[in-house]
Amino acid sequence: MANRADIGVIGGSGLYSLLDDAQEVELTTPYGPPSDVVTVGRIGARSVAFLPRHGRDHRYPPHRIPYRANLWALRSLGVRQVLAPSAVGSLRAEHGPGAIVVPDQLVDRTSGRVQTYYDAGGAVHVSFADPYCPTGRAVAVSAARSGGWDIVDGGTLVVIEGPRFSTRAESQWFARNGWTIVGMTGFPEAVLARELTLCYTSLSLVTDHDAGVEAGEGVTHEEVLRFFATNVTKMRSLVADAVEALPEERTCACSSALDGIKLPFDLP
Ligand SMILES: [Zn+2]
Repeated sequence: MANRADIGVIGGSGLYSLLDDAQEVELTTPYGPPSDVVTVGRIGARSVAFLPRHGRDHRYPPHRIPYRANLWALRSLGVRQVLAPSAVGSLRAEHGPGAIVVPDQLVDRTSGRVQTYYDAGGAVHVSFADPYCPTGRAVAVSAARSGGWDIVDGGTLVVIEGPRFSTRAESQWFARNGWTIVGMTGFPEAVLARELTLCYTSLSLVTDHDAGVEAGEGVTHEEVLRFFATNVTKMRSLVADAVEALPEERTCACSSALDGIKLPFDLP
């Protein structure tokens, strides 16, 4: 059982204390090492692997995160379901700091990030029409509701390249398109999970309104960090509740994302 896990959590380092009987696992992948050592432990009856997305010391900015290594490392430990808490800006006046959005759609505004495992050896086109796991979404929404969060069930996450925040014009354009939240790490994380047939669920914590929503100062890094720190305990229990509520058997389509496709290599 040691060093195996069913569920992966990719998130901020404030989530370390989630795990009981924790062990650190150092591993590498064909894509280099993941952001940090993976901590494997238990939450209730479930075995969980935790990976700090930016590294323990926050050494990787969003555009430099080793996304491919991170998802590959989790899958190689046995992980098939991934929960991905992250901080986002809100594009909607009605969803302010403290809201949890569980998006059901995604818009990729990143550039230059490697977004596939299948670079050579034949084309692999996965379906990404619905980028998130429907089961994971339902579990996350229900856990957040029970936890008393201001919960937004559905919405579109636009992922920007960063590390800079949006201009007012960009932010207003995103909002006019009907998009809900803006972040920097949700892509290519989501599509790489799909390419490995993992279930992937985003738990997006709104830390601020994006620049175009209010005639304020826009976002500062300090504001985001301060807000995330004050919510970390609450976030920890939300993730733990969601982990315990995830079904052990997968009945969603995520597991069959590669059915009928000839892969150029075996998955771990
Ligand atoms: Zn799924």
